[in-house]
Amino acid sequence: MARRVFDTSIKRVYEEVAEELKKICGKEWVSGDDAVLIAYSRDQSLEIAKFPNLVVLPETTEEVSAICKTAYSYSVPVTPWSTGANVGGGCIPQRGGIICDLRRMDKIVDFDEENMSVTIQPGVTFGRVFVEAEKRGLRNICPSAPASVSMLSNYLDKGVFQISNRYGVGTDSILGLEIVLPDGSIVRTGSLFDEKYGSICAEGPGPDISGIFQGSMGAFGICTQMVARLYPLYPYEDMVVVKFDEDDLEGVKEFLRRIARENCTLDTLLFQDAYLGMGLGANQDAAEILSIQVPRQNAIIFYGGQTEEELKIRRDQIDKVIKETGAQLAPEGMLELMKELLPWRRVFKIIQLTPRVQRMTGSFELFWFNISMDQAPGIARAFQRLVRKYFAPADPEKSDRPFPPEEVTFYLQPLEYGRTGMLEMDAYPNQGEPEGVKKGLALAREAIEMICAEGGFFDRPYGGEGSGFGWIQTPLLGTYYEVLKSLKKKIDQKNIMNPGRMGIPSEPFE
Ligand SMILES: Cc1cc2nc3c(=O)[nH]c(=O)nc-3n(C[C@H](O)[C@H](O)[C@H](O)COP(=O)(O)OP(=O)(O)OC[C@H]3O[C@@H](n4cnc5c(N)ncnc54)[C@H](O)[C@@H]3O)c2cc1C
Repeated sequence: MARRVFDTSIKRVYEEVAEELKKICGKEWVSGDDAVLIAYSRDQSLEIAKFPNLVVLPETTEEVSAICKTAYSYSVPVTPWSTGANVGGGCIPQRGGIICDLRRMDKIVDFDEENMSVTIQPGVTFGRVFVEAEKRGLRNICPSAPASVSMLSNYLDKGVFQISNRYGVGTDSILGLEIVLPDGSIVRTGSLFDEKYGSICAEGPGPDISGIFQGSMGAFGICTQMVARLYPLYPYEDMVVVKFDEDDLEGVKEFLRRIARENCTLDTLLFQDAYLGMGLGANQDAAEILSIQVPRQNAIIFYGGQTEEELKIRRDQIDKVIKETGAQLAPEGMLELMKELLPWRRVFKIIQLTPRVQRMTGSFELFWFNISMDQAPGIARAFQRLVRKYFAPADPEKSDRPFPPEEVTFYLQPLEYGRTGMLEMDAYPNQGEPEGVKKGLALAREAIEMICAEGGFFDRPYGGEGSGFGWIQTPLLGTYYEVLKSLKKKIDQKNIMNPGRMGIPSEPFE
């Protein structure tokens, strides 16, 4: 952990800033207490912990704007924090400063049933929108992340979902944004641009500048409101499980691509054994039984229809692909076991616990990136070799089975009708063990470089200064990187907004 530096002149500046913030939000919503700040200094990734100087919890957009104006006038950094669940060091303040914790901004501002959209603040969780939307026969698209995660920041962050093949990633569901810029001014895009547009204006108006605020970790501004798409809920639904031989990644990839192309399913994914248990098991016991009892490779398909007839048509389409690709349906007993152990009627829509992290050794090193479906088997095998290089097979007596570090597993899901795929491969080093952390970090660097060299790309620039996908990948992007840097300099002249990301150093600009 980085040591805290107690420079008296810096201390005085932050005392003054704290007084200003108390005037804006009320004194109970500002803290510089180490016991509070330590919680914001790290997350469940292996990113190095760094302390903020202050945390503030605003309640309105106007307060966020006043916080930014204050930070700008004192040239101190501000890092937005919505639910802090990013598992990539995204909220760890690289140059200290103020954490702007947005959890009090938790209003569902509007439900537009007619036009299937919802207007939310950053503290609104997937779980809340899911419950409210369901009452109206609608659904939001949700990741296999905890239900307590912020829907706004996940969408802003290009969230990926098992249903992405049908509805796209998080940014595809954004209809409008309200953003507070580093100097405190406010910009609105899409359907928030002007009240008269309602939800008909998804992009722009004109050139759509909202892209710069998406997938950029808040480095260009703080989003205080979002209009997001909702989709119809299917009253009829069912699940199919298809199993593959131990190492048949090619078979898996081809099957998923064909299914995606057919566009007959809601959620489509491959979960490998342990991942299935950790990711979706209803509880620890279910996770362990699933990881031991089901075959290694399982493609899970969730499909639905507005009528029983539509459900049957979808099933016929799925069966046709199963037949043509020579895949095998899982035995009836296994399907029953999975239906019992997975809260499956909702599992793909909403995950209610924090399964992966709770069941691990306190941390996980996440790698997820886009590739062509054809590349998935090769990259997955290369990653498994790397993990075994850093984490030699553990002594079963001592290891934390059933999920020891070398037991890397992955999940693969097709995106865009199978044109591309998202591969997530995670390793589980022990955050409490210095050796485990060192190995995890070395593994991360080698894996990221390998994935970039093979043509995979990371669409969320996670990681801190000098580490992670964002830092290693972005400088490789040539002119794209140069344009990004000049935009950052233009919009954030003092480099105060979540500095130290995307290969742009955290120091003030000259
Ligand atoms: C067990 C587990 C499983 C997960 N599985 C998935 C999955 O399947 N798919 C998926 O997409 N994600 C997944 N995630 C990631 C997660 O769901 C997060 O939602 C997502 O990465 C954003 O996190 P957050 O909402 O908590 O935002 P935070 O962690 O608060 O912030 C993320 C980044 O955005 C910035 N930021 C935060 N709020 C704002 C704002 N209002 N305006 C501007 N910038 C902001 C932060 O500074 C930070 O850089 C998983 C996480 C966990 C813990």
